[in-house]
Formats: sequence, C-alpha cells, structure tokens
Amino acid sequence: MIVSTLGSHSALQILHGAKKEGFPTTIITENSRENFYRRFSFIDNFRVYKNLDDAVNLINSVDGVLIPHGSLVEYLGIQRTMNISIPIFGNRNLFSWESNQQKKMYLLKQSGIRIPESFESPEDIDRLVIIKLPGAKGGKGYFLAKDKSKAKEGINHLIEEKYIKSSDDVIIQEYVTGIPMYFQFFYSPIFSRNELTGMDIRYETNVDGLKRVPGIINTEPSFVVAGNIPVVARESLLPKIFDYADRFVETTRQLVKPGIVGPYSLETIVTDELDIVVFEFSGRIVAGTNLYVDGSPYSWLYWDEPMSVGRRISREIKIAVQKNKLGDVTT
Ligand code: ATP
Repeated sequence: MIVSTLGSHSALQILHGAKKEGFPTTIITENSRENFYRRFSFIDNFRVYKNLDDAVNLINSVDGVLIPHGSLVEYLGIQRTMNISIPIFGNRNLFSWESNQQKKMYLLKQSGIRIPESFESPEDIDRLVIIKLPGAKGGKGYFLAKDKSKAKEGINHLIEEKYIKSSDDVIIQEYVTGIPMYFQFFYSPIFSRNELTGMDIRYETNVDGLKRVPGIINTEPSFVVAGNIPVVARESLLPKIFDYADRFVETTRQLVKPGIVGPYSLETIVTDELDIVVFEFSGRIVAGTNLYVDGSPYSWLYWDEPMSVGRRISREIKIAVQKNKLGDVTT
C-alpha cells in the first residue's frame, strides 16, 4: 500500500515518516515544484499536475491512502476535495465543517471549551476585536479594530481588494490578550488515546516584529505567518488542555462521525490568569509539526524513538493494517 500526499505544507515530513514505517511513497505535485521534491530520496513516485482538476485525477489514481494536510482543501477547494475517491487518513466529513467558521466554533463550544466572544456584525462590536478571513490563509489580511467604525473601514478595504465579497465573509472575534500557544494532538483510534505530539508558536509579521522596536514604529500589527517557533508549556497547563482535547474528540465523535482521527491542533491564547482560550482548531496536521521531524519533547514520552507526526500517521496506518482495522483510521 502506498502513502501519498499533495506537494505542499508538511508533505516532506509526511512522506519521510511513511518511508521510515516502510511504506512506498507518492507525491502529487504541481509541475513547478517537481524539481524541488526530486531532491528528497524518500519520495518514490511522482504524479505531476498542471491544473487542479488533473490533481484530483492523479490523487485518485494512487493505490493507497492519501494523507490530507492544511493545504489540501485550501488548494483544491472543497468541491474538488469531495471528489477524492481513494481512502483518506482521518475524517473527511470534517472538511465541510472546517470550511464554515460558525460550525467550527460550534464544535469547540459544544465541548465546553472556553472560546473568544464572537460578533455577528461590525455593528455589535463593543471591544478590541481581531477580524479574520475564512480558511487557512496563514493570517493574511487579518487586522485589529478598536471599534465598529475602524472595523467597517477595514472590511470595506478587504472588499475593495477583492479578498472577500461582503462583510458576511469575515470572522469578528474578541481579541484575547495573552500569548499564543498551538497544541498539536493526535487522536489514535487504535490506542483509544489522545497524544500530545508537540507545541508551537507562529512567528508572524509584523505583530512579532513590532516588539523589537516598542513604541517607535506607528503601524498596525499584522498576522502573516512566516514561520513557527517551538515552545513547551508549564506542566501545570497540560491537564486543562488534555481535558479540552478529550472533550473535543468526544464532541466530534458525536457530531461528525467517526470523529477526529489522527492529528489536529487546538490554537489558543494563554491569558495572564493561565486560562486557555481556544480561538481556532485545525482538524489535520498543522505546519507547526514540521519543527519536530525528529520528534518533540512530548512525542518522546510516548514513543522513546524519533516520532514526527508524519511518522505517527504511518505508524497508525501500519498497526491498523496489521489488526485489519484500516477502516477505523480512514474514511
Ligand atoms: P491557519 O493557517 O492555521 O488557518 P489562520 O490563517 O487561520 O491560520 P489563525 O491561526 O486563526 O490564522 O490566527 C492567526 C493569528 O492571529 C494567531 O497566531 C494569533 O496571533 C492571532 N489571533 C487569532 N485569533 C485571535 C484572538 N481571538 N485573540 C487574539 N489573537 C488572535
């Protein structure tokens, strides 16, 4: 059986891990990136596409499992993703939930997780808010607004620049003061457990750059992700985030069957009361896991060997195959 993925995001980590677990690997890549991916010896087969419709046909031509990552739906769009007919690792039913911000936040809320207040319309704003574009845009176009007039001004700008069609397309959230922490989890149906696989912080322009010259540059912060930084949390924060993770998995098992399978991330702000506010989740492997190709301080606690999330996915597939339970980890 072949392990395949789309050439972007965390494809190197995924295929490197698959190889370590003994699987043949295939990448489905845009022609402009083919030479880049050919630099890596752990990629066995190349399927090269020129347009996105071809990409889906090529994905479907692979005899194996497709590993989805954060760029899959973003590149192909939800409609093309629905046309993927080979088994996908994890729960494909989550894709449509993830592309709707309201439904996404509903899953967190139903889990009893603390989330930021959100505002339906700019008219309702009564505090500092962050205004976000839907989908995995890496923070592009996000801005802060102190009041409704600033918010409307910024949203009109986004419409003029054709980032969005109307104000209904943005997400308006209370800006939670604290520090960001992204908790990377893996839910294993084979072991019936939530594993903490790592943790990261996004390195974002200009919000992270501004603190280098406090008070000198008078510019609005922006949130464009340019990289990721490793972090470990105080151990006393971990019981709460595990509690959140267990509840979240349980909610998805009830509302989006078969529930979360494999990697996901809870994206949070930790406040100065050491409360954890989850402003977003990602139902698949996140790019921050690329920090830990050799395993993270947390993955060692479970595996005692280098275990990237990419490798962890293939380990789950391998054990599932051995136990004749591949259907428990794919949809
Ligand atoms: P992804 O690529 O994961 O989809 P994204 O484009 O969805 O990223 P987010 O992770 O939602 O972006 O947010 C980008 C950044 O904006 C975060 O790292 C954080 O700094 C900030 N942020 C988002 N929501 C809030 C909030 N409610 N309060 C404070 N900061 C926030």
